Amino acid sequence: MFSGNTLMKPATSLAGRRGFLRTAAGAFGAAFWADSSLDAALQHVSTNSRPSDLKITDLRVAVVARAPMTCPVIRIDTNQGIYGLGEVRDGASKNFALFLKSRILGENPCNIDKVFRKIKQFGFHARQGGGVCGIEMALWDLAGKAYNVPVYQMLGGKFRDRIRCYADTTESHDPKVYGERLKKRRDQGFTFLKMDLGIDLLEHTPGALTQPLGLTGRESFNTQHMFTGIELTDKGVAMMGDYVGQIRDLIGLEVPLAADHFGHIGLNSCIRLGKGLQKYNMAWLEDMIPWQYTGLWKKITDAIDIPTLTGEDIYLKEPFIELARNHAVDILHPDLATSGGILETRKIGDAIQEYGVPMAMHFAGTPVSCMANVHCAAATENFLVLENHSVDVPWWDDLVNGVPKPIIQKGFIPVPDAPGLGVTLNDEVVKQHLMPGEGYFLPTDEWNKERSHDRLWS
Ligand SMILES: [Mg+2]
Repeated sequence: MFSGNTLMKPATSLAGRRGFLRTAAGAFGAAFWADSSLDAALQHVSTNSRPSDLKITDLRVAVVARAPMTCPVIRIDTNQGIYGLGEVRDGASKNFALFLKSRILGENPCNIDKVFRKIKQFGFHARQGGGVCGIEMALWDLAGKAYNVPVYQMLGGKFRDRIRCYADTTESHDPKVYGERLKKRRDQGFTFLKMDLGIDLLEHTPGALTQPLGLTGRESFNTQHMFTGIELTDKGVAMMGDYVGQIRDLIGLEVPLAADHFGHIGLNSCIRLGKGLQKYNMAWLEDMIPWQYTGLWKKITDAIDIPTLTGEDIYLKEPFIELARNHAVDILHPDLATSGGILETRKIGDAIQEYGVPMAMHFAGTPVSCMANVHCAAATENFLVLENHSVDVPWWDDLVNGVPKPIIQKGFIPVPDAPGLGVTLNDEVVKQHLMPGEGYFLPTDEWNKERSHDRLWS
């Protein structure tokens, strides 16, 4: 890795012109190549040293598959040979970023907020926010490389040196099997756990669910919770509680255990289930209903004595503030690749902190997006815990270089000090895991001229 101090050595310690140029390269802040050789420095010294003249020249994509999600990694190139890495939200189309290429070409990537405000009108909730956020991450990476500082430092510095993670764990209908898997997570060093707890557990048990006869799984999957007509019976509530109880018997009550993916049950069933789970001391109940229903969330939150949580599909800070101001949920859970990127998520954390609400972070991407989360989490005081979906993907760590491996060390990610996000891509490994039919940062000239009259007012 590059060492800024090497380039900053005084000229007197080096011979002649090479020494002068070495000093000049450091003095002008040219300290940002993965290749730290002097030749590389000399090759770039006349252009890379001027962040104010940096311009975006290209945006390309490499779509990684089964990480375990589909993850479009983006690269923004510049006129000075440095580039930034970002990532479109897991499961989203790469076109959400490519559509924005014509809007960012020629912009100075160090003007992160200016570029973000130009493109943010093209983002929306859930995956539709992915393009804006992926670009925003890459701008931070570029600005950090241009000025030779880590992203967390540009956000105001660190509140912590390592980021607590929780890992998703593959579900089993057998609570003994699931409990053992969760126990293994604890043995791996994780200090915070999450499980799936859905009504699929009950589907073969007569009398556990009430639902419109003949309702198919597909119909209920695509219908918001309150509109399915599915309700839990007392027997169903008891079965789900007993299932969690058997898991708690294996892992103990001390480690936080959150739960997600309940299924699309009605509001009152959410409340009855929440009450049934109280004695198992859950860390939070996630997305019991869609995030948009602030008033309904408040009914659930007020009725049960377990923390409630939502937020992974929300774009921009305002809906988070609305939920926090109303104390509609106890914890908010932005996904930085949907919520508006690194700075917007930092703003979300700060804003909800005013209402006493902690910020957990949803995440399901490659180490590129992971590091964007790590820098933001380091610089946000009310951060609670960061998700990771890839603990069982053996090649996930190898997608990048530049940070200590394993990336998650006994349940925590150390905050890197290298410039920008702190990682470079391991080209060979990324190429091995591309989505079939996808290339490795191939030209995207067809997106250079895409345009419309973008102004939102007249
Ligand atoms: Mg979730």
